[in-house]
Amino acid sequence: MQFSSQKTLSLMRRFLTPNTPLHAQWFLTGRCNYKCRSCGVWREKNHANELSTREVKLGLDSLKKIGIAEIVLSGGNPLLRNDIDEIIGYASKHFITTVYDNGSMAVKKIDALRNADFVAISLDTLDEKKNDYMRGVKGAWKKSMEAIETLHKEGINVGVAPTISQLNIYEIKKFTRYFTDRGIPVWYAVYSHDDMDDSLFGIGKKNDELEIVDRKAMVKLCDVLREMKKERNGVFITDKTLEALKQLFSTGERTWKCHALQNFCMVNQFGQVSGCHLYKPVARVTELPKVWRSKRFDLLRAKYNACQKCTYVCYLFYSIHSGVHGNLEILKDQLKNAKLLISKMYE
Ligand code: SF4
Ligand code: SF4
Repeated sequence: MQFSSQKTLSLMRRFLTPNTPLHAQWFLTGRCNYKCRSCGVWREKNHANELSTREVKLGLDSLKKIGIAEIVLSGGNPLLRNDIDEIIGYASKHFITTVYDNGSMAVKKIDALRNADFVAISLDTLDEKKNDYMRGVKGAWKKSMEAIETLHKEGINVGVAPTISQLNIYEIKKFTRYFTDRGIPVWYAVYSHDDMDDSLFGIGKKNDELEIVDRKAMVKLCDVLREMKKERNGVFITDKTLEALKQLFSTGERTWKCHALQNFCMVNQFGQVSGCHLYKPVARVTELPKVWRSKRFDLLRAKYNACQKCTYVCYLFYSIHSGVHGNLEILKDQLKNAKLLISKMYE
């Protein structure tokens, strides 16, 4: 965790500047050592021409220039990069930096992760067999549990990141209780898949057994999580996100407009940027300071604003919480969690 007064001031400035994006997700590598059933990334074989350390740093500088305050480093598994220590160190000087791991690498890379503000470890269920089936790797459950426990003991802000699907939907309440009872926050994704031909790359892979067919159970789960938020810390999902999901699963209505390339953007392992990973690249990351406020980007924003092609929760979240007002809403909604984290950061 790196929260110098300089970083805090710079972040506050970015948070409070109107018409600036908040979030970028950088898929640092396409390589992954797992074979999750819900994922298309590990099926990709083109790993040549991934950016060098220097190129990643230049890209991070560009993201800071356009006002991004919060970055997620993911992949593939970003911890498979040999230079990940240097990248995390650099990113966390300027951004609120979250690093994703599937649970296999975090313990080995613990010293690099001490510099991250948050570490998210993937785990879908407390059922070892089922988790390994979903992850496509034997031993995945044990490794994730070990990583979560070790990082937590070491004082790193670690959270557990399940993807809610038909295979685990009835367990999410128990799962949330298990981890939050131990002071470990839970960050949720909801199973979704890609069906676009010209995307930046494919993440979600269509898989019928994961598709949420019990829509009533999802609606009920939204209410359950909302209630759990009142009684405990560590349930990392805003009321507004839960409300939007509830509407979507009960009536099919989308209550939000997408803010891709407005409040968030994606960067792939080759340094190409798109509004979201389902659309093709529109610039190189180092070009962003020049093109972010261009007419061309305004036209793309209008196109994405009207798009209804996905329901990925992170895109939904950064769409409904957009702009200065949206940033303040997140803080207000997550006040209990934020207080806890801030006190840890300045310990
Ligand atoms: S979901 Fe993550 S851990 Fe699983 S195969 Fe895809 S990139 Fe790897
Ligand atoms: S709704 Fe937004 S995030 Fe989803 S595919 Fe369309 S532009 Fe991308």
